[in-house]
Amino acid sequence: MTTTETNKRDWVELEHKYYQGTFKRQPLTLVRGKGTRVWDVDGKVYLDFVAGIAVNVLGHCHPAVVKAVQEQVEQLVHVSNLYYNVRQIELAEQLAQVSGGMRSFFSNSGAEANEGAIKLARKYGRLHRNGAYEIISMERSFHGRTLATTAATGQASYQATWVPLPDGFRQVPYNDLDALKAATSEKTVGVLLEAVQGEGGIWPGTPEFIQGVRQWCDEQNLVMICDEVQAGMGRTGKFFSWEHYGIVPDIVTMAKGLAGGVPIGAMLTGPRTDVFEYGDHGTTFGGNPIATAAGVATVRTILEENLLENASKMGAYWRSKLEAACAKYPFIDSPRGIGLMQAVHVSNDLAPVIVQKALEHGLLLNNLGPSTLRMIPPLNLSAEEIDEAADILDRTLADVAQLLAAQA
Ligand code: PLP
Repeated sequence: MTTTETNKRDWVELEHKYYQGTFKRQPLTLVRGKGTRVWDVDGKVYLDFVAGIAVNVLGHCHPAVVKAVQEQVEQLVHVSNLYYNVRQIELAEQLAQVSGGMRSFFSNSGAEANEGAIKLARKYGRLHRNGAYEIISMERSFHGRTLATTAATGQASYQATWVPLPDGFRQVPYNDLDALKAATSEKTVGVLLEAVQGEGGIWPGTPEFIQGVRQWCDEQNLVMICDEVQAGMGRTGKFFSWEHYGIVPDIVTMAKGLAGGVPIGAMLTGPRTDVFEYGDHGTTFGGNPIATAAGVATVRTILEENLLENASKMGAYWRSKLEAACAKYPFIDSPRGIGLMQAVHVSNDLAPVIVQKALEHGLLLNNLGPSTLRMIPPLNLSAEEIDEAADILDRTLADVAQLLAAQA
């Protein structure tokens, strides 16, 4: 289809007709991306601070990812996991290097990575904790949309429609070690948490809590699982967000940014919980040559281009802009986050209004519910792009202030 033909079709209407209505989409049809920018079907350009919901860690169409995928697609698109696959092994080797020697299992998504982690923990419980199987996860957490990961997700709104959910999950308040200890029983096999909660509103764990969980798991022979699907891949300025806390989990799950935009998931384990044996788990597509080729290029680029350091520096710079905005506009406050995983609180349920206005001004932002604005841009973001985004944000917030003044 030519560009002119693409422009002529009413994609919103066609979507309503042909696609199942599970997504509340912005009124925007995107057709091209380069770095931190995306273009819509009418040729309008946007600065992208959503980045595919923390997926495009190198921005859109990074040359290293494009080249890796192009080369791989011409060589070998897919082989089953019945055979050894060079790219898959290379990516596992890279992840071992950044995780202190963990071994990988690749899947296709974050939810599937977490399913694998849950199974691994249950196997550990069967072998080493008298058949214990229950996972304690956190209120306000998000772990995916399969039934088991929905049961692990600590948000009632995601669970209500799907009861009965699989047995073996319970939630405790985040950052509350006493509650976790009180909830632990002989049935408990592990603790599943995000060291920085993402979908729940960008809430970093306290050092006392994250370190306390590690200690509790050691004392009680429990498995500590860190869901790094959103906070991993350098987003917080360290490769894994748990590194900020000086701990090492037993099991780590990843997805989103791992292959720079190509679908992938991964479940990593240290030696204590490396208990899967032949036949315990499997996947047709997981760790496919294209996804893992993109993964190898993404991890290599993050390390070679010092993007952890950049995420840290640019995160601090963007945070200073957010703090200035909070000081200027009374309807936003409480900036929070680590690195390039930032959020602000928005009063009066105005977050969707800000997202809409920012879009009109050419900046893509994302709201988590009505009162949280989330920003998760690429790790190779520049200071100039931050200046530009801050300028657009200021004009956006000025519009909203005017709107409020008109209503008063
Ligand atoms: N875990 C976390 C922390 C996430 O943020 C998400 C998605 O937002 C998931 C798991 C689920 O990942 P996926 O949508 O790839 O299944």
